[in-house]
Amino acid sequence: MIHFLTYHKVSAQNEDDADFYTVTRDQFSQQLQSLASAGFTPLPLDQLADRKGTSEKQFALNFDDGTVDHFEIVLPVLAQFNLRGIFFAPTAKLNRQGYLTDHQLRQISEAGHVIGCHSHDHKRLDTVNETELRHQLRTSCEKLQQITGKPVWAFAPPGGFSNPTVQRIALETGLNVIRTMRWGFNSKLDFISLETVPINRHTTGRQFQKILEGKQPRLLYFGKQAAKALVPARTYERLRGWIFKLKRKT
Ligand SMILES: [Zn+2]
Repeated sequence: MIHFLTYHKVSAQNEDDADFYTVTRDQFSQQLQSLASAGFTPLPLDQLADRKGTSEKQFALNFDDGTVDHFEIVLPVLAQFNLRGIFFAPTAKLNRQGYLTDHQLRQISEAGHVIGCHSHDHKRLDTVNETELRHQLRTSCEKLQQITGKPVWAFAPPGGFSNPTVQRIALETGLNVIRTMRWGFNSKLDFISLETVPINRHTTGRQFQKILEGKQPRLLYFGKQAAKALVPARTYERLRGWIFKLKRKT
């Protein structure tokens, strides 16, 4: 069992209008503390790059979307806990307002973290043609390699949308470890279709503890998967917003 924990933004404090996936620095630090207290150890990232199997109770920290808080907030917290993470940054967003600069991304890489491909434009890849798919992966990998001076081997398709074509072209591009957005703990370790647990602002300490015990809110998860498959992406985001607003009121 390896827990791939996926984070998005980490904010300095709690903001009412924060995105669904945004957690606070305190929440994040407490979760890192819980991992250590529960006897979890970090999966060495060079082992992951070599697709090496692993023992029980390991975790890998993933940070998606390349926002600037990954440099300003996440990096110091990881340093404090002496942990390394994988940062999946869409390259078209680099140097834009609110996102990492090339220089910050290089510093993250130099601090020993792994920079992974998350496509160039943060585009859903299972519905585009092969030419576009290759372009998204190649452009992104070349740019990341240029910035960090290191080969890129980790890949997270945006939104977790993957299929055999996405996997094949990723492998051809040199990406040999693929993390999806499928909920799970990788009891069957498949390096081109790794499961993850996305952490969000509603993940309480108690829920996190359950996650560490390998439990998952199945009904909620499968409901979400069905909604995601049936409705257009934008509608799904809106629906999710409503549901969580309702939940907070009740
Ligand atoms: Zn993303």
